[in-house]
Amino acid sequence: MEEMNEAQQLRQRLLNQKKNGWDLVDETTEKAIFDYCEGYKTYLDRGKTERTCVEYTVELAKAAGFVELERGMALTPGMKVYRVNRGRAMNLAVIGSAPLDQGVSIVAAHIDSPRLDLKPTPLYEDSELAFFKTHYYGGIRKYQWVTIPLELRGVVAMKDGSIINVSVGGQPGDPQFTIDDLLPHLGADQSKKPLGEAIPAESLNLLVGSRPLKGDEGTDRVKLAVLQLLNQRYGITEADFISAEIEAVPAFNAVDIGFDRTLIGSYGHDDRVCGYAGFKALLDLKDTPCRTAVCVLADKEEIGSEGVSGMQSAFFDTFVDDLCASQNVPLKACLEKSFCLSCDVAAAYDPNFAEVYEKNNSAQVNQGVGLCKYTGSRGKGGCSDAGAEAVAYVRRLLDDRKVIWQMAELGKVDQGGGGTVACYMANRNIDTLDAGVPVLSMHAPFETVSKLDCYMTYAACKAVYEG
Ligand code: MN
Ligand code: MN
Repeated sequence: MEEMNEAQQLRQRLLNQKKNGWDLVDETTEKAIFDYCEGYKTYLDRGKTERTCVEYTVELAKAAGFVELERGMALTPGMKVYRVNRGRAMNLAVIGSAPLDQGVSIVAAHIDSPRLDLKPTPLYEDSELAFFKTHYYGGIRKYQWVTIPLELRGVVAMKDGSIINVSVGGQPGDPQFTIDDLLPHLGADQSKKPLGEAIPAESLNLLVGSRPLKGDEGTDRVKLAVLQLLNQRYGITEADFISAEIEAVPAFNAVDIGFDRTLIGSYGHDDRVCGYAGFKALLDLKDTPCRTAVCVLADKEEIGSEGVSGMQSAFFDTFVDDLCASQNVPLKACLEKSFCLSCDVAAAYDPNFAEVYEKNNSAQVNQGVGLCKYTGSRGKGGCSDAGAEAVAYVRRLLDDRKVIWQMAELGKVDQGGGGTVACYMANRNIDTLDAGVPVLSMHAPFETVSKLDCYMTYAACKAVYEG
């Protein structure tokens, strides 16, 4: 009997035993988890694109006392500032009591998601049906985007400088759009093709109309009738699509999944689930943090973080430099002391596709926020591979605050791979570690996450800000 106890003690002391988070949380935390996720679901529905996500985030930030950062502004501890980057990305900060040469604590997430963008000349007619041509954005599995309801969100930038907001399909009573697929009765040849080739990109055409213009004898009468409707509603012509950014995104909203309501199904968890966590944790900071807390909501991660609104843009450096200038601190002195949690989703172990995962190193649904030392592919290629010290720092932070966490690796070695904004932060001489919510069906139009994991990611972000 005594020997058994000793073994049990050894087990407790030596083994890193994975536990289901629901066995570890008390009733108060359970309630906090469910409450937090109600706000998150609204955030998802309001912010289905990076632009609408920025709009809603600004609305919430302003209500919480954040003001737009102006260059040269005097900044005092506790002040809350934000800056929007061209409507598609933003940074927020709560000024800490420590000087900026002590570094800042950053949570960086992205708010763009895989979707279908309209081409610059989208509208055409074929066989008296009108379609929009699309060009997919990010890593999608094309077969998942046919025969689902889609809505359009975006902007048309007019030559006179005005911006027209387009949003059709998201409000009750709105028409929606869809991409058709072949019926099984005629799918014999298509069914023999590999999954990745069965739906070619150029067949992802959005059905947008079928009624010809009355009393017209010319060609393309359906196309003309659609243009007439668009002109009446938005005042635009076919050429105005050239300077538009209109995205087709799933028309369904976030919902609870499962009899026990412990999961959320939605479009765009990747990566608004971490964007919301980083933002909400910043909003919920009760006391002025020691180090300045910075929340980054970046665009263009899904296509390599390039461009003026991506994580590689100098927008981030300019923002932090403007904070530093108020204290005469050189930017590089601030960055080298900073820490960044690159907050992005992880692949959740899926028992239905067990063969692509290595179970000991995969994130499990309900085991908390997944820390990811490295991403990349073919031998960690293209990732920043956090130092052991940075991982230890976060282990301590999370354990001190009883945040439930686990390690996460993106499937089996050489099965595939991926990246995040982590390397672009690390390249700036900032210690950076990836962490985020494990997702089932990542990049699908309808992804699934665990409410407990969402909340623990929020708690992890808070821990980083509080230092
Ligand atoms: Mn992501
Ligand atoms: Mn992604």
